[in-house]
Amino acid sequence: MNVLVTGAAGFVGSHLVDRLLADGHAVVGLDNLCTGNAASLQHLHGHQRFAFHEVDICDGFEPTMSVDRVYNLASPASPVDYHRLGLETLAVGSRGMQAMLDLARAAGARLLQASTSECYGDPLVHPQTEDYFGNVNPVGPRSVYDESKRFAEALVTAYHRYHKTDVRIARIFNTYGPRMRLDDGRVLPSFIAQALRGEPLTVFGDGSQTRSFCYVSDLVDGLVRLMESDAGPGPVNLGNPEEVTVLEFAREVLVLTGSQSKLEHRELPQDDPLRRRPDISRARRLLGWEPTVSRREGLRMTLEYFRSVVGK
Ligand code: UDP
Repeated sequence: MNVLVTGAAGFVGSHLVDRLLADGHAVVGLDNLCTGNAASLQHLHGHQRFAFHEVDICDGFEPTMSVDRVYNLASPASPVDYHRLGLETLAVGSRGMQAMLDLARAAGARLLQASTSECYGDPLVHPQTEDYFGNVNPVGPRSVYDESKRFAEALVTAYHRYHKTDVRIARIFNTYGPRMRLDDGRVLPSFIAQALRGEPLTVFGDGSQTRSFCYVSDLVDGLVRLMESDAGPGPVNLGNPEEVTVLEFAREVLVLTGSQSKLEHRELPQDDPLRRRPDISRARRLLGWEPTVSRREGLRMTLEYFRSVVGK
C-alpha cells in the first residue's frame, strides 16, 4: 500500500515508518520538524520505498501518488513543547487535521488519528474507558493540547458522519523508547538524563501522581492493528495498563542506572493529571492487542539508547 505518515520525524512517527517499510509498504513521511528530529529518519536515506517532505500539514499537501492510508501523528506532544508552541498545537489539530481529512477523502484513503489520553484530562474515572468524556479545563495551560486533540476527534468523527470518510481514532497513553528527545521535558527522558549526568531527579509535587508507560514497539503494533481492523470510527485506548507513581518510577530509574542522584521536589504543574491508566478491554477485544514488553525490559532498551546519546 501507499501510506502517508504525518509527524514522521517524531518519536512515534519514525518507529511507525520503520514498521510500515518492514511490512513492505511505500511510505511518504511529512514533518515540519518543529519538534521532530530529522536524525530519526537518517537511516532511511536512499530507501527506495521512502520519501520525506519537510512541510507543515496546516498548509496542506498534494500527493503525487495514490494514497491508501494516512496516519496523522503530526503535533507537539510533550507538555514542554506544546506550552512553547501553543498556537501551533491548536493549528495542527484543527487546520492541519482538516487538511489531512480532505486529503484522505479525496484519495479514498483510510485515516487514523493519533489522539491522546489527555482527552480525559485529570480523570474522575479510573482506569479510563473510551466512553468517559473526560475532565478538561478548556482555559488551563494544557488546553492548547487537550482541546486541540479533542477538536481533532470531533472533526474526524464529523467527516465520518457527514462524508463517510473511513477513519480510526487511537487514544495513545504515555509511550517511551529510543529516539525520544533527551530535552523534550517528559518525565522519562528527564529522569534518565538526570540520572546519567548525576544531577537531581526533578519530581514534580510529592510524586504520588501516576502514569502507565507503554514501550514504543507495542504502541506501533497497536496503531497498525487498529488501522487494518474493522473497528470503525470510535476511539480505542492504546497504552500499557501497568500503573506506577512518579516517585516509584524515579526510584526505578535510579536502580536501573546505578545512579547516586538525589530526588528534588518541584512544584506540581497546574492541571497535571493525578492518575492515568488505560482500560484496554476494547483494544483486546477488537484488535487482539495488548502490550508485550515489560517496563523493566523496555527501560533497559531505552537506557541503552540514552547512554549512547549522553555518552555515559
Ligand atoms: N514529571 C516530573 N518530573 C519531570 C517531568 C514530569 O515529576 O521532570 C511528572 C509530571 O508532573 C507528570 C508526569 O511526570 O505528573 C508525566 O509527565 P510528562 O511530562 O512525561 O507527560 P504527561 O503524562 O503529563 O503528558
